[in-house]
Amino acid sequence: MPFHKHRCVTRKVGADHPLAGKTVYIPAMAEGSVEALCAVLRWMGIEAHPTPRSDARTLELGGKHTNGDECFPAKITTGDFLKIAQQPGFDARRTVFLMVTADGPCRFGQYAPFLRKVLRDQSCCDIQVLSPHGEHGYSDFQDFDTAFVRAAWRALVSADILRKLLLHTRPYETQPGAADRAFRDSLDDLCQTLEGSCSDSRCQLCLLTSMLLRARARFHAVPARFDGSRPLIGIVGEIFCRLNNFSNQNLVRRLEEQGAECWMSDISEWIAYTNMEEMRNLRLAGRTYSWQMIKSKLRSRIQHADEHALRSLFVENFAGYEEPGIEEVLELAQPYLPFPGAEGEMVMNLGRSAYLARHGADGIVDISPFTCMNGVVSEAIYPKLCRDFAGIPIRNFYFDGQQSDLGRDIGIYLELARSYREKKPYEHFCRSRISRQG
Ligand code: SF4
Repeated sequence: MPFHKHRCVTRKVGADHPLAGKTVYIPAMAEGSVEALCAVLRWMGIEAHPTPRSDARTLELGGKHTNGDECFPAKITTGDFLKIAQQPGFDARRTVFLMVTADGPCRFGQYAPFLRKVLRDQSCCDIQVLSPHGEHGYSDFQDFDTAFVRAAWRALVSADILRKLLLHTRPYETQPGAADRAFRDSLDDLCQTLEGSCSDSRCQLCLLTSMLLRARARFHAVPARFDGSRPLIGIVGEIFCRLNNFSNQNLVRRLEEQGAECWMSDISEWIAYTNMEEMRNLRLAGRTYSWQMIKSKLRSRIQHADEHALRSLFVENFAGYEEPGIEEVLELAQPYLPFPGAEGEMVMNLGRSAYLARHGADGIVDISPFTCMNGVVSEAIYPKLCRDFAGIPIRNFYFDGQQSDLGRDIGIYLELARSYREKKPYEHFCRSRISRQG
């Protein structure tokens, strides 16, 4: 039990809250993370659901309202939102679409205005589009208090951990589907835990800790044989396409099917980056000693502490797969795209790729939408990184919803990764696998 003499209470938003009585839909970017985020909204008393599973209709509707200049994730999210607007009995006045936004070097800041325009064109002006801004680490979420921001962060970190457990286990399972079942059961457990948790933050953390220990036990129970024969492929790239299995045609699973193990960048890494950017921008604006700076530092510190509390349960499991701090990623990106001269996902891609290469990855795959600015810039610089790390194979996979001979491309790429594995100068240490196999 979390505490002695503690009575769990969950505070809900009042009837006067702008989202009370409405249904919020969140783009299903990453399986696990979106369900967890919806659970946090329901914890606050707000109905929330992921957008429906993407399919051919998504592409059809998205394609009708885009002309090819837009980024692929804009097409996917627009198509999925329009599918909701076309459901029978749909009530626009009681619907909210969430579309986060940011300033920065690419088109991401246009997604929300674009969605509003499409909805206007469809005579769906009554739908509210909610756009938390990356400038404040996405914390400006409809006047929610810090309890929501903190719970949402814990939800995202927990979902990242579940995804990592899945990617660690699935390639080695000896009973097909067992790791996916462990993931789904753990995700249901996470959502139920979040939705029913107490408003006291220490109590909630205790419940999440217990939930993660149950998840760990589920994954440990998956019959698996860790033979260490698989090339380890680091996955970087544009956040939506990298994490959205529909957009990337299940690339990670297909890499696994052809013999690889994947190590993917988390969502929490991006939030940590936006937090750091917020503080840098405040300093540039001469607001080093401002209330906003205090808030930002405090939020960042609390998030760091919560993340540490949750991840520390998995020190053994993730030995050899430690996530780098944001400062280390930016430092490693310096020889390629020096921050802050360059910023955003391209810097993260380069720094992260260097980190993965140093930590014994056998190859790097960059998953990006076709014409993605970050993907294109990163691709131009990968050859230098490849030379600096003894020829590590780095491959960009671009997606725009068209079919291609992905299986053949993966096969060729993994041959390169296997041959690099034979000669690479960087060792990958993985104590937990060795002990589990024993
Ligand atoms: S990161 Fe790439 S895909 Fe995403 S908005 Fe920017 S340019 Fe478009």
